[in-house]
Amino acid sequence: MKTIDDFSFAGKRALIRVDFNVPLDKQTLAITDDARMTATLPTIAKILKDGGSCVVMSHLGRPKEGPEDKYSLRHVVDHLKSLTGVPVHFATDCIGEEAFKQSAALKAGEILLLENLRFYKEEEKGDLAFAEKLAKHGDIYVNDAFGTAHRAHASTAVIAKFFPENKCLGYVMAREVANAEKILNKAEHPFVAIVGGAKVSDKLLIIENLLNIADTIIIGGGMAYTFMKGMGGQIGNSLCEDDRVELTKELIQKAAAKGVNLLLPKDSIVADAFSNEANTKAADNMHIESGWMGLDIGPQACEDFRKVILASKTILWNGPMGVFEMSKFENGTRTIANAVVEATDKNGAFSLIGGGDSAAAIAKFGYEDRVSYVSTGGGALLEYFEGKELPGVAAIRQ
Ligand code: AMP
Repeated sequence: MKTIDDFSFAGKRALIRVDFNVPLDKQTLAITDDARMTATLPTIAKILKDGGSCVVMSHLGRPKEGPEDKYSLRHVVDHLKSLTGVPVHFATDCIGEEAFKQSAALKAGEILLLENLRFYKEEEKGDLAFAEKLAKHGDIYVNDAFGTAHRAHASTAVIAKFFPENKCLGYVMAREVANAEKILNKAEHPFVAIVGGAKVSDKLLIIENLLNIADTIIIGGGMAYTFMKGMGGQIGNSLCEDDRVELTKELIQKAAAKGVNLLLPKDSIVADAFSNEANTKAADNMHIESGWMGLDIGPQACEDFRKVILASKTILWNGPMGVFEMSKFENGTRTIANAVVEATDKNGAFSLIGGGDSAAAIAKFGYEDRVSYVSTGGGALLEYFEGKELPGVAAIRQ
């Protein structure tokens, strides 16, 4: 699979699919977090340094019916100018006549940003004719949008057909793919996967797939209580997906059959309300009283999980151990984060943190630079670890 380093862009127009789906302030429409933009700057810089030009395309938000000002990418033009320090032109219609004139006239060292691709329904439908039109904007197609790599959209996958030889991964994509592949195909053992978050239903497929590659799977967060119920526990008012209880029993059996240690939390911090002001206490997970709900893993679980993490050489973490957004229930997630950092620092473990909420937790504790890698992709990373080939990656590989 080619990456951007396999090409020289001198005299070429690179057509780059980026993820500029940045959060905007509802009132002022100012960018509130530009991490997705800064992530892709090295890709843009390499192309410009080679002597090429960049036609940049992205989606922003979820427009329903055609153009809507609050989803216009014109809101990011000035910021892109200040980040890159080069002229940035803007095309108000990504496949309009004017846009093609602008991309044809683009000079080396310049950027043209196309208006939101999702102003056309054809983008999400993966429409071939729409992809063919977009393809006319560039000589070499670069995909650097990991956040949408699990979608077979026109600009993320279908378009690659029109660049049979001239297509590659940008730096963001190349890094995400290399790190995910390292875990999927070259994990050093012992390998622990830590899976948390609210719902079992979101994580069933990933757990199923991890049963084939991990030595231990730690289950934490709200999803643990569905397992507890399956084991005959009384879980009080804790989160539970009743229609998934049978499935959790099957997972426990499958893990035993494969010799995988499926490690559940023995205890919880329970609360009498879903609130940071609630009364709290530690409780055995098999005996949570009615009127109380588990909102964090308890001290025994922290210790059990910590031991396994510290003995591991590969660590994959997706999903928090509790309601870490509230200070009363952040201890479990913080303890796990500390153990991951310690294993990375002291034992040279390879640690990959992925999925929106675990990345947010790591950022909250200020540990982004103390783990091996924090993925930028939520859904895309999950699907990778569910064992699916991502359309955005497959399109470059083929
Ligand atoms: P997910 O998006 O599925 O990874 O879930 C993340 C969310 O799960 C976070 O917002 C947490 O607050 C929430 N969560 C974690 N543990 C619990 C719990 N025990 N009860 C309720 N919500 C939880």
